Amino acid sequence: MSLDRASREELVRALAETVIQHADELTDLDQAIGDGDHGLNMKRGFEAVLATLPGLADKSLPEMLKSIGMTLVMKVGGASGPLVGTFFMELGKALPEQPTRAEFVAAADLAINAVKARGRSEAGQKTLLDVLVPVQAVLAAGGDARAIAMEAAQAADRTTPMLAIRGRASFLGERSIGHMDPGSRSVSLLIGAAAKVLEFEVRL
Ligand code: ADP
Ligand code: MG
Repeated sequence: MSLDRASREELVRALAETVIQHADELTDLDQAIGDGDHGLNMKRGFEAVLATLPGLADKSLPEMLKSIGMTLVMKVGGASGPLVGTFFMELGKALPEQPTRAEFVAAADLAINAVKARGRSEAGQKTLLDVLVPVQAVLAAGGDARAIAMEAAQAADRTTPMLAIRGRASFLGERSIGHMDPGSRSVSLLIGAAAKVLEFEVRL
């Protein structure tokens, strides 16, 4: 995978704009089973990322991802900031400049493991890992951008009937059932946006 400067900038804008446009929806989801700050948290983080353009896109793909991750860790806050930020940072650390699909899968594995360690969490607990882990499986199995975006959306939907056993929603016990996990929705939006840009720009 090789992304030129214009594509890197397009990717960052797509990630940020999708989160910013869906901030109210993310807030509503977090109001149902959390404290209602998730939309604002993510919006603040991605506005800060946008503010680092155009210089951000001058960096190589790994350096750019690391920089996005650091900004998100600093600006998003809540439980999700360190987790989503860690994912971007570790992905950046593990990726070569022009990764093959196998290298991308290996890097995403490391990044997901870092999120698990940071959150002391696993898939199955109604968190953003319930999108990251199944999407990673589709990527590893050779799925194209469309399959990856579809899995991301469906995986977020599948968190609705789950019982939360990590994060703030877990305080609600069974009352967490019947609502989509906000962090899963965010991550599915990010993956959907990335897949859409990358579909036209590269073949992994
Ligand atoms: P807070 O819960 O501190 O208000 P946010 O509302 O920004 O933070 O983020 C909540 C989201 O973070 C949840 O929907 C969930 O996906 C994710 N999350 C929370 N705790 C964990 C954890 N331990 N591991 C993985 N993801 C988590
Ligand atoms: Mg919250």
